[in-house]
Amino acid sequence: MATLEKTQYDMPKAYEPGKVEQKWYQFWLDKGYFKPKIDPEKKPFVIIMPPPNVTGELHIGHALTDTLEDIMTRWHRMKGEPTLWLPGIDHAGIAAQVVVEQLLAEEGLSRHQLGREKFIKRMWQWAQKCRQTIAEQHQRLGASCDWSREKFTLDEAPSQAVRTAFVRLYDKGLIYRGERIINWCPRCATALSDLEVDHKEVQGHLYYVRYHLAEDNDFITVATTRPETILGDTAVAVNPKDKRFKAMVGKKVILPAVNRVIPIIADEAVDPAFGTGAVKITPAHDPVDFEVAQRQGLPLVNILNLDATMNENAGPYAGLDRFACRQAILSDLEKDGLLVKVEPYPHSVGHCDRCQTVIEPIASKQWFINTEPLAQAAIKVVVDGRITIIPSRFTKVYLNWLEDIRDWCISRQLWWGHRIPVWYCQDCGELTVTIDDAKACRHCGSASIEQDPDVLDTWFSSALWTHSTLGWPDDTEDLRYFYPTTVMETGYDILFFWVARMVMMGLEDTGDIPFCTVYLHGLVRDEKGEKMSKIKGNVLNPIDTLEKYGTDALRFALSTGTSPGNDIKLTQSRLEAGRNFANKLWNATRFAVSSIAPGHTDMKIQRDLLPVEDRWILSRLSRTISNVTTLMEDFQFGEAQRQIYEFLWGEFCDWYIEIAKVRLRSAQKQLPSPVPVLVHVLETSLRLLHPYMPFVSEELWQNLKSHLFADWQKAESIMVTAYPEAEDATIDPQAERIMEAIIEIIHSIRNVRAQYQVESSHWIEAQIHAGELTPVITTYSQAIQTLARVRPVTFLDSRQAPPSENAVVLVLKEAEVVIPMASMVAAEAERKRLKREIEKGQAGVARLEARLNDRAFLTKAPAAIVDKERDKLATRKDKLERLKEQLTRL
Ligand SMILES: [Zn+2]
Ligand SMILES: [Zn+2]
Repeated sequence: MATLEKTQYDMPKAYEPGKVEQKWYQFWLDKGYFKPKIDPEKKPFVIIMPPPNVTGELHIGHALTDTLEDIMTRWHRMKGEPTLWLPGIDHAGIAAQVVVEQLLAEEGLSRHQLGREKFIKRMWQWAQKCRQTIAEQHQRLGASCDWSREKFTLDEAPSQAVRTAFVRLYDKGLIYRGERIINWCPRCATALSDLEVDHKEVQGHLYYVRYHLAEDNDFITVATTRPETILGDTAVAVNPKDKRFKAMVGKKVILPAVNRVIPIIADEAVDPAFGTGAVKITPAHDPVDFEVAQRQGLPLVNILNLDATMNENAGPYAGLDRFACRQAILSDLEKDGLLVKVEPYPHSVGHCDRCQTVIEPIASKQWFINTEPLAQAAIKVVVDGRITIIPSRFTKVYLNWLEDIRDWCISRQLWWGHRIPVWYCQDCGELTVTIDDAKACRHCGSASIEQDPDVLDTWFSSALWTHSTLGWPDDTEDLRYFYPTTVMETGYDILFFWVARMVMMGLEDTGDIPFCTVYLHGLVRDEKGEKMSKIKGNVLNPIDTLEKYGTDALRFALSTGTSPGNDIKLTQSRLEAGRNFANKLWNATRFAVSSIAPGHTDMKIQRDLLPVEDRWILSRLSRTISNVTTLMEDFQFGEAQRQIYEFLWGEFCDWYIEIAKVRLRSAQKQLPSPVPVLVHVLETSLRLLHPYMPFVSEELWQNLKSHLFADWQKAESIMVTAYPEAEDATIDPQAERIMEAIIEIIHSIRNVRAQYQVESSHWIEAQIHAGELTPVITTYSQAIQTLARVRPVTFLDSRQAPPSENAVVLVLKEAEVVIPMASMVAAEAERKRLKREIEKGQAGVARLEARLNDRAFLTKAPAAIVDKERDKLATRKDKLERLKEQLTRL
């Protein structure tokens, strides 16, 4: 529990994130800050969190999601909007089932041995454990989401939504059961949607096989990449316009290996340029052939069992694995002289995206959604501009996919998921489709009914996520107030899987769009720009990383350079930059706190007495706030963060605080203390930064607060203060011009010192002429002296006569600075140093020359070594010459 009592006057020397992060998170939780107050007068800001899968832990991509959504959430909350960020978890269907099946396999068990009921129990145990871990990890990342509304896709309420949506679509005729070619994963033993198939280019073969005609001695040759599917052929097809085969159409051929007789038909779908121009038709195992068969009234012959072994239709090959069958059939064809030729043939083969097994297209009875009418509505709301996609280049991708959409296969032969709410009657054969569990057949009243064993695609429940989490189908207060949500922030890789389907289902179920803006982020890549993967071993675990650098540093690194739709590189240097930034702010606050004189806790700024640097920093603060606000409204979070960083580090810490130190030390009586402005700018900047780096900003803000008047800030936490607003009245171009000139003077003198390697203890001289600014810059003589280590500084009213040759002249934007050479280099000491250097150099040259004159060395040493020594000698001689030259110049 956090203590709000006055902390010790001295803050610890360094920021230790591990000591404060959990304390503040618990404090925010205890205060209930994450829970929005419903206020009908105000428009809420709402993000529904993309639910992570219950497959283990959060990965770095989730850390990016959390960072971006938390930035938006904290910002809108500070702007005074009722803000809801609703967290949740996805049961992840096949992905989670595969994980638990692997755990079972380690115990030597399969799900079938365990049975459905016990297996589901194991799944729930696993899910509960992951759910706990994932919630804790979100909290470590600082996610300010409303835990009281957290949802799991298999919870009672979302499950009710799933069943309701299914039944409504079924009643409207938009869900149907049909025989279609689906993607079958033999390993996972389930159908997959098209999106769950990875198409990989593989080097295969094209086999040319001769089919004999049944009536005469002629034959026709077909080409195939999967010769085992010959067993399932029900026709050979040619293009009706192809003159080569005109006489053949209508004749019959004998299938090799199984000797079945099938017809030669003509169909427009045949490409005369592929293979020989005649193709085999296997309707049960190819989507194009399936359509041909529908048109031509051809039968379907399924030759595969669901584990990808051959079934009884494969005749002599029954029982063989599909790939063993391929080899067996090829050798038989060869024996019979039917294999005409084999060509290497690169082609695309579908793989299961969960287990990488080769997919088999199989005709099977599955449940589908007729997506076309839903897609039309989803296209319209984007074309009309009711939903905006950021970045806009993804709008076209979204529209193209919806325009070309195919029916969505939603049944899965899994155990983990929402069971399909359909019951089959044993007596009358009719279907009963209901939201509540059916007790009897709706058609004949029979109690002999059985529920469909399959579950729904996990993306079906995800598609309802924006409204099911808010209570739909019930007319809840949350649904009325928070729907449609404001922003859907997610990765561009699930634009189709998820975003498009949420738009379709949101519109269908509620009649309204699910969200107004889609913000798509990119992938997190490693230092080299490569995708992170366990195989490559370049995965960064977010929790290990935040323990090493601090959560704020991780968040800082993730949002550095982020822009919509673009991948980001998470590098060590960015993480270090984040940690250094937190430390820089720590030191600045420590300085501010230590500058508050005991008892002098009134921080009223005397506006009319402010010197230039105060007016400058207030003006820069206002400009920064205004830029940051514009950028954040435009979803440019990376650039907004950069501007906050540049202001705090590059202007406030490096210049304002340094100049303030000079002012405090010199105690110029006529000037007000810099402390009120220092505290004001620091406190405002911490609020500006809070959405990005919530922990360090809270810790520092509380430190400041504890050193000031009790009523200085009524708020108990930075997270419930107001987000800063720019004050136009403080914009002061003249103060900016003067300070920029002073900074440039100091900066360029420092550069010259570095260039001439002047030791930091050594003071140099400077003459400055700054035109009309000279009088005001003269008042900063002390600061220029201290910060550039120049003494004496002479201010010239008018430009000097051309300076002597022994001086460096700096021509700046507003000023001219002249530095006499002699002041940088103390002649006598420098002469001594050069002489020492020359002596050393001469000795070295002599040694090398002796070596290169040694015959023994020259004959024994490898040529490469000798060359190296010669190069060394040349370099040393050159350096020696330059040292001598410098000496004569002195
Ligand atoms: Zn699989
Ligand atoms: Zn019945």
